[in-house]
Amino acid sequence: MDIKDIKIVESVESKLGHLEWKKSPDAHILLKKSGADAPCVSECQGRPCTTVCPAKVYEWEADHKKVVVNYENCIECGACRMLCPFDNINCEWPGGGMGVKYKYG
Ligand code: SF4
Ligand code: SF4
Repeated sequence: MDIKDIKIVESVESKLGHLEWKKSPDAHILLKKSGADAPCVSECQGRPCTTVCPAKVYEWEADHKKVVVNYENCIECGACRMLCPFDNINCEWPGGGMGVKYKYG
């Protein structure tokens, strides 16, 4: 099969609807700097965390000039462990039995 023949039949958002999460009481993702001195405020061009994360865990709150981390929605893909140009993201994995639950079908 040629790559141009492959069709995406389901959106990422729709696929996320198939998942379940067991919310951990402890955040497994933290920003090393999140206040007014954080690189997110003015240094970081385009804030890639807010666009690359497929689960939209990172949201820029313009009113409060900060990135909010909705760690409960993480699907543990690992992308944000590599993408921050300022090494401002500390992304670990949820504790045993916590976090996203994948299933087939
Ligand atoms: S990519 Fe890093 S520096 Fe940029 S907005 Fe996200 S956490 Fe902040
Ligand atoms: S591990 Fe993946 S899903 Fe979780 S916050 Fe990082 S980019 Fe988003």
